[in-house]
Amino acid sequence: MTVQLVWFKRDLRIKDHVPLASAAKAGRVICLYVYEPEIIEAEDFDAAHLNFINESLIELRKNLRQLGGKLFLRTGRMPEVLDDLHRETQFAKIWAHEETFNYISYQRDRRVRAWAKANSVALEEIPQYGVIRRLDSRNGWARQSSQRMNQPLTLAPKQIQLTPEINALSPGEICSPSRFQVRSFDRVSVQSGGETNAIDCLDSFLDSRGVNYRTDMSSPLTGEAGCSRLSPFIAHGNISMRTIHHQTEARVKELKEQRKSGIEIGPTWLKSLSSFRSRLSWHCHFMQKLEDEPEIEFQNFNRAYDGLREDEFNEEHFAAWCDGRTGYPMVDACMRALHQTGWINFRMRAMLVSFTSYHLWLHWRRPALYLARLFLDYEPGIHYSQIQMQAGVTGINTVRIYSPIKQVVDQDPQGVFIRRFLPELSEVPDKHLAEPHKMNSMEQTLFQCQIGQDYPSPVVDHKIRYKAARDRMHNLKKLPQSREASEKVFQKHGSRKTPMRRR
Ligand SMILES: Cc1cc2nc3c(=O)[nH]c(=O)nc-3n(C[C@H](O)[C@H](O)[C@H](O)COP(=O)(O)OP(=O)(O)OC[C@H]3O[C@@H](n4cnc5c(N)ncnc54)[C@H](O)[C@@H]3O)c2cc1C
Repeated sequence: MTVQLVWFKRDLRIKDHVPLASAAKAGRVICLYVYEPEIIEAEDFDAAHLNFINESLIELRKNLRQLGGKLFLRTGRMPEVLDDLHRETQFAKIWAHEETFNYISYQRDRRVRAWAKANSVALEEIPQYGVIRRLDSRNGWARQSSQRMNQPLTLAPKQIQLTPEINALSPGEICSPSRFQVRSFDRVSVQSGGETNAIDCLDSFLDSRGVNYRTDMSSPLTGEAGCSRLSPFIAHGNISMRTIHHQTEARVKELKEQRKSGIEIGPTWLKSLSSFRSRLSWHCHFMQKLEDEPEIEFQNFNRAYDGLREDEFNEEHFAAWCDGRTGYPMVDACMRALHQTGWINFRMRAMLVSFTSYHLWLHWRRPALYLARLFLDYEPGIHYSQIQMQAGVTGINTVRIYSPIKQVVDQDPQGVFIRRFLPELSEVPDKHLAEPHKMNSMEQTLFQCQIGQDYPSPVVDHKIRYKAARDRMHNLKKLPQSREASEKVFQKHGSRKTPMRRR
C-alpha cells in the first residue's frame, strides 16, 4: 500500500473531512500540520489565532490517535517542509482541501502544486464548502454551491494505518506564539478551539440559543448569546459548513413536524432559522469573491474609486479608533469588546468600518488589517468583501453610513453593553450615554466623568462628517466611469438574487 499525506490547513477536524477519509482508504497515512512563519508572522495574524489553532491541534492529535493515526507537526516554509518529509517517507500523494485564504496562502499553494508536479507526487485538492474554483460566471453559482452543501456528510475513517517508517517519525511539538514574531493583543476571554467545542456550539444554538436569532443578532448585547458564535470554528475548519447546513435543515424539519403534530414551538424559531440559513449562504457568496479575485485583499473592487481616500490618512484618528477612544461610546465599546473577546456582531462590525471610512475618512486597508487581528474568526474572503462594502468602494452596494449615536439608542438603550466595556461611563445616566460630551460641567462632576480627561471628546463632529461623506460618495457614484466600473463588478461578483438597479 502506498503512503498518503493529508495536509491539514484550515480544516482542523476529523468529521466530514474528505481528504482524510479518502487517504485512509487509499493507503498508509501521514497526517501533517505545518506552522508556517510567513503566515503566522504576517500583518493579519494574531497570537489569539495561533492559540485557537493549537487548541484545535491538541484535540485533532487526540482524535487521530484514537483512530490509530498520528498527527505530525512541522514548522517551516512550504514546500520545503514537504521536501524533507518526502525524503524520509516517499509519500505518493498529497490530499488537502482547497483553501481560499489570504494572498500568502494563495502563493504558497501555487508553490506546493509546482513542487508536487516536479517531484511526481500526486496532489488532490478537494472543495470543502460552496466556493467554486475556476468559476466562469456567477450565473448559476447559487445552484452549484447549494448542490455542494447538500452532498452527504463524510464519516471519519474507522481506522488509519501507519507504516513502521511513519511511526518512527518525530511527532513534532505544539508551538506557542512565543516561538514566532507574532503580533499580540491582551485578551480577557476568547472562544476556545476544537471540534468538540464547535459541535457543542452548534448544538446549543439549534437547541435553544437560536430561538430569537432574528432579533437578537442586531445588538452586541443580545447577539453575544443569540448569534450562533460558530464563526471562529468555521474559519479554522473545526466544523464543516456542510455539517452546519445539514443539522440546520434537520432542525427545521423537526420543528415543522412538531408544529404539525400540535406541539407549541413558539412564533420565532422558524423565522430565526430562516435568517440563519441566509447568513450561512452568505459565507460562500462572499468567499467566492476572493476566490475569483484575490487582489481584493489589497485593491478596491471598483477601480473607479481608487484615490478616494488614499491621500488623507490621519494617524491620530486611526489610533483613536484602534484604541477605542473616539469619544463615541458605541464605537469605543465595540472596539474594546473586540480587544477583550475577539468577537462582535455583524451590525457593530459594519458600524466600526462605516465610522472609520466615512466619519474619519480613512482608507480601508489598515483598518482591515487591524480588525483581521482582532477578529478571532478572521476569514479574508468575508472580511475584505465586507470591509469594502461597508467602506462604499464596491459600487454595487448601497452606501450605508451608520450613526454611532443612533446605534446606542437602538441597540443598547440601557447602556448595559457600553458600561461593561467603558467603565469610565458607569455613572453616566442613560440619556447622556450616546453623546456624553453634551453633559454640562455640573453633570460631568456629578456623574464622575470629565470629558477630555476621563473620557475623550469626539474626535470629529458626527453631523458635519456624515454630510460631507454622503455628498462625496453621492457625487462619485453618479460619475459615468464609476457606473461603468460598477457594472463590471456586478457582472463578476454580484448576487444574482438581488440584481443591481440599472440606469
Ligand atoms: C466589516 C466586516 C468584517 C467581517 N469579517 C468577518 C470575518 O473576518 N470572518 C467572518 O466569519 N465573518 C466576518 N463578518 C461577517 C459577520 O459579521 C460574522 O460572520 C458574524 O458576526 C460571526 O458571528 P456568528 O458566527 O455568531 O454569526 P451568525 O450570525 O450566527 O452567522 C452564522 C455564520 O454565517 C456566516 N455569516 C454571517 N453573517 C455573514 C455575513 N454578513 N457575510 C458572510 N458570512 C456571514 C458566518 O460564517 C457565520 O459564522 C464581517 C462582517 C463585517 C461587517
